Amino acid sequence: MLDMTLAEMARGLASGELKSSELTKALLDRIEQHDEKINSFITVTRDEALEAADAADAARARGEAGALTGAPIALKDIFCTKDVLTTCASHMLDNFVSPYDATVVERLKAAGTVSLGKTNMDEFAMGSSNENSFFGPVHNPWNLDHVPGGSSGGSAAAIAAGFVPAAMGTDTGGSIRQPASFCGITGLKPTYGRVSRYGIIAYASSLDQAGPMARTAEDCALLMNVIAGHDQRDSTCVNQDVPDYTAELDKPLKGLRIGLPVEYFGEGLDAGVEKVVREAIRTYEALGATVVEVSLPHTRLAIPTYYVIAPAEASSNLSRYDGVRFGHRCDDPKDLIDMYLRSRAEGFGEEVKRRILMGTHTLSEGFYDAYYRKAQRVRRLIRQDFIDAFEKVDVLMGPAAPTPAFGIGQQSDPIQMYLGDIYTIAINLAGIPGISVPVGFTDGLPVGLQILGPHFGESRLLNTAHVFQQNTDWHTRRPTLD
Ligand code: GLN
Repeated sequence: MLDMTLAEMARGLASGELKSSELTKALLDRIEQHDEKINSFITVTRDEALEAADAADAARARGEAGALTGAPIALKDIFCTKDVLTTCASHMLDNFVSPYDATVVERLKAAGTVSLGKTNMDEFAMGSSNENSFFGPVHNPWNLDHVPGGSSGGSAAAIAAGFVPAAMGTDTGGSIRQPASFCGITGLKPTYGRVSRYGIIAYASSLDQAGPMARTAEDCALLMNVIAGHDQRDSTCVNQDVPDYTAELDKPLKGLRIGLPVEYFGEGLDAGVEKVVREAIRTYEALGATVVEVSLPHTRLAIPTYYVIAPAEASSNLSRYDGVRFGHRCDDPKDLIDMYLRSRAEGFGEEVKRRILMGTHTLSEGFYDAYYRKAQRVRRLIRQDFIDAFEKVDVLMGPAAPTPAFGIGQQSDPIQMYLGDIYTIAINLAGIPGISVPVGFTDGLPVGLQILGPHFGESRLLNTAHVFQQNTDWHTRRPTLD
């Protein structure tokens, strides 16, 4: 029962074979038994979950159930949840109880899903390894000495460990797709503006986007059906019809035109990862797709561009944590300035401080034109690379990350860590959707294939991933926990 996908659980609940209360309890017990070694949850909401499961079972008995009523999920601890701690994995917010739900949370609740708790992450979603959490690192269920990826590492690890069939993540520069790749699960970053950001703690507002993480593309489609769509409370959330994301899952791939960006198969790509990714692409050819090489010529500028824009937006967004309105306040401040300085010095971790410093520097007078404005211009060129490529092909494919999950503590140089984001961050700069799909292993660690599509091309991505999963079994592999 615990190894089922979200769709299988939903079918079991619908047929009456499963009860949400029993399923929820079994998963909570599994978390209690095993999460000590994985650390994927910051808060487990046992009582709330059991109550929601009972309510879901009752709704079903009354004939009031939807597709996901009673289905268990988890939420990255960046989503505001009414009356439940929302820490963003920071000491700054380790006592913050939100008075309201994020739109995504509101919609998941209205759909009858049962949240088991809030998952661990890199502090304020800054990182690629989940080592930047105030609550300690998350361990990859495939090898506990390795990272699960970041920043949504807790959500990815919880799914891989079989604690939940699905979870919500956010992706500013790869934080859904890279941990999905490292943990052997499926993760979708939607088009910027497809899902509301209201109530999601802001990192870099022009890049942040919430999305589903699960075992399969079908599960991601089911969650997209709930979370996608316009929200008046987020002015960047696009008012455009939401398709039924499950409708085209089975569409045959015959004639699909796949582009392989030459820049995504160059120097720095681990040979084991490349081999697995190329094998997956051969599977697509066998399924009737055609493959051509394409170029995204500005790829090498993506990392410097992102690491100007994201910290700039972060420094502005994080200025609200001043010890006054919310968050940590230092003891016995001498005066107002002392309170600001010490509250922020104590509340933020090293990586967050590094980003605030980088961001305030690039936004300051004299540097704004040289860095920030220039980065915005390059961003447009990067976006245009993708638009041009999608004139010739339907989807782009490549690795989600240049390496498999690295060892905890192994990547101590922040610049090296930033370089690992090479295949994911341009996608956020361009605003297009991307999905990572498990396609094999190297050295016993999972490898993800990243599939990219044009703006609002989520259905095509889910279809491309789903047909692969109907023909392979990588997504069914599970690590053993004991
Ligand atoms: N690794 C990237 C960063 O640290 C992306 C993080 C994210 O997508 N939230 O900024």
